[in-house]
Amino acid sequence: MARDYYGILGVDRNATDSEIKKAYRKLARKYHPDVNPGEEAAEKFREASVAHEVLTDPDKRRIVDMGGDPMEQGGGAGHPGGFGGGGLGDIFDAFFGGGAGSRGPRSRVQPGSDTLWRASITLEEAYTGVKKELTLDTAVLCTKCHGSGSASNAKPNTCGTCHGSGEIQEVQRSFLGNVMTSRPCHTCNGTGEVIPDPCDECAGDGRVRARRDIVANIPAGIQTGMRIRMAGQGEVGAGGGPAGDLYIEVMVRPHVVFTRDGDDLHASIRVPMIDAALGSELQVESLTGEEVTVVIPAGTQPNEVITLEGEGMPRLRAEGRGDLMAHVDLFVPTEIDEHTRELLEQIRDHRRDNSSVHREGEEHGGLFDKLKNKFRNR
Ligand SMILES: [Zn+2]
Ligand SMILES: [Zn+2]
Repeated sequence: MARDYYGILGVDRNATDSEIKKAYRKLARKYHPDVNPGEEAAEKFREASVAHEVLTDPDKRRIVDMGGDPMEQGGGAGHPGGFGGGGLGDIFDAFFGGGAGSRGPRSRVQPGSDTLWRASITLEEAYTGVKKELTLDTAVLCTKCHGSGSASNAKPNTCGTCHGSGEIQEVQRSFLGNVMTSRPCHTCNGTGEVIPDPCDECAGDGRVRARRDIVANIPAGIQTGMRIRMAGQGEVGAGGGPAGDLYIEVMVRPHVVFTRDGDDLHASIRVPMIDAALGSELQVESLTGEEVTVVIPAGTQPNEVITLEGEGMPRLRAEGRGDLMAHVDLFVPTEIDEHTRELLEQIRDHRRDNSSVHREGEEHGGLFDKLKNKFRNR
C-alpha cells in the first residue's frame, strides 16, 4: 500500500513546495523529540520527515502522484529519473493489480496440504490413553498411475501454448505506453508441462479422493486443544506431490464427577458431620473405578480440601501423576431416629456445660459464645 504522504503533512495534492515545507516545519516543531519525548511523537516526527523528503523531491513526488510509493522496497531513493527506478513494480501493481514481471512456470508437482481432524474423548480415555479409529476423506496417490498422471507412465511434454514458460505474455496499451503483462497459461495451468496421455483414473492429476481408516494413538495425559501430528497422513499434493500431515486436535469432554485442572483432578466428597468432627477414613471410587482411601482428619471443616497426592491425571510423556483434590461437602443428617436424636442432644448439653465452665476464663467457651449467634463474613 502506498502511503498518503500528502495526508501525513496535511496538505492538498497541488500544494507548492513552500506550502509543503511550511506544513513540515509546523509538524516538526510539534513532534520533535527535543520538545515532545515519547514513542508516538517520535513516530509522527519520522513520518513527517519522510513525507517532506518525498514531496520536495520532484521525481519521488511524481511516483506518489501516479499512485506508487518511492520509499517502498528500496524503490526510488537511489534511482532518480522516475521510471528507471525500483519503484516501478509498485506503480505497476497499483495500476494493474499486481502480477507484473515474469515468475516462470510453477511446479506441476505440489506438496499436499495438512488435514485437521477433531477427536472428542472422555476424561477416562485421556487418563488411560486411547486408540481412535478415524475415517478420512482425502486425496491419495492414484494407484493406477502411481502419481505420474500418465496412463503409459510417459514423461510430460513441454506445453505448446506457452512453450514451457507457464505464462502467456500480452502487450496492453495504456497511458504509460505499451505495457507487457503476463498471465498463467490455461493449457498447462501455469506449469509449462502437459501430460500426453492422461491417466483415466485421476485425469492426469496423479491423485484421487478416497476414504480410508486410520488409527490414531492418543497418549495418556492429553489435554483439550492439544494436537497430535501424524506425518504424511494428510492430503496428497497436485501431480502426486508428497502428502501433508494429519493433525488430530483433541477435545476432552467434561466429566460428571471429576473436574480437571492441568494434571490435577477436583471432586467433591460427601463427609458425614460426625466423621468430620471425629476424623475417619472414607472409600471412594476413582476415575478408573478403583477404590481410593480418603483420610478425613478430626475437625475437618466444610469446603476444606484434602489432597491425595499422585491420584490425579497422568502427566503427558512424563513420569508420575497430578493430585486429586477432594473438596469436603459436609453432610448434615436430615432424618434421624429417636436414639440418634437423644445422643446428639446429649452432645449439645455436654457442649453447653463446657462453655459455661469456660465462660469466666474467656478461653474456648467464651469465644464460642461470642460467635455462635452472629453472621460471619465469608
Ligand atoms: Zn492416475
Ligand atoms: Zn502452457
